Amino acid sequence: MQIRNTGHNGIHLPASHIVLDGAGSDPQAHIFISHAHSDHVPGKRSVPVYASPATAALMRARGHRGPVRELAFGQTLALPSADVTMYPAGHILGSAMFFIETDEGSLLYTGDCRRPPSPASEGFALPDRSVDQLIIEATFGLPLYKWEPHEVLFSQIRTFAAKSLDAEAVPILLCYSLGKAQEVMMALAASDPPVTVQIHPAGVPLTRIYEEFGMSMGHWEPFDPENLAGKVLLIPSSALNNPDIRMIPNRRLAYVSGWASIDAYGSRLMADTLIPLSDHLDFFSLMDLCREIAPGHIWLTHSPNPDVALHYLQKEGFSCGSLEKEQYREV
Ligand SMILES: [Zn+2]
Ligand SMILES: [Zn+2]
Repeated sequence: MQIRNTGHNGIHLPASHIVLDGAGSDPQAHIFISHAHSDHVPGKRSVPVYASPATAALMRARGHRGPVRELAFGQTLALPSADVTMYPAGHILGSAMFFIETDEGSLLYTGDCRRPPSPASEGFALPDRSVDQLIIEATFGLPLYKWEPHEVLFSQIRTFAAKSLDAEAVPILLCYSLGKAQEVMMALAASDPPVTVQIHPAGVPLTRIYEEFGMSMGHWEPFDPENLAGKVLLIPSSALNNPDIRMIPNRRLAYVSGWASIDAYGSRLMADTLIPLSDHLDFFSLMDLCREIAPGHIWLTHSPNPDVALHYLQKEGFSCGSLEKEQYREV
């Protein structure tokens, strides 16, 4: 099976005319999008793609104009050259893995994934058939990344908010507007006494889509600096320097990210609290998933340092490599 790395996370299976998370130059390609994060959607906003219903809605909210053919989880799409079945990936709302069966064997592409799944997602499920090639993300593929359970981190989020409000400070949680913000909102929705959350304008249409898909986001409103007292604010760290945010007196910052498990990232943002809540696999769940799937070959993607995870996989007898290191592979 030929697997071509098209750059920007895009993967091309030339024999099947399938592109995963990209656009590419194959005019016959069927393009499948794993989820709506900007590093996974085609730069060209007019191309026709396949995606889950929630990913379709989130992509449209973020400016995709081309037709999106919606697939249901577990449903198999029969193309002339392959059968494609979508499984929930547990990363953000709508996130999907694609299982592709061809005459040359089967391939599972995880996109970004999380197990145990994010509570703000459709869950996580694997195909019940054998996987010849596994393309799996290894964003946090180093043994220093080991996540605490969601409930532990969610309670850290509630404690940070409650203690800041008790001290009459403004709790600000730094988190991405798509995915992480909604996980934090779910955590805060269980606060006792209840809290009101203000969110960055970029997150407003996205949060409405989470609600349309049945996720309970608690009591929230768009950011309004005049009306912030006694409330909790969620913004992406890129908004920290906006004048409206800089002027907030007596603020307390929490950085909510897998990267918050490294002190240096938090201190660069001058965060008071670090909460390492990630929507990706940690190193240990990556290894467990590889053992459980037991594929013929493993390709790592999204890895800042693939050699470490490859070393551990090889030690366990897996045939494996990094897709990013090779422009073109045939196995
Ligand atoms: Zn993602
Ligand atoms: Zn990604």
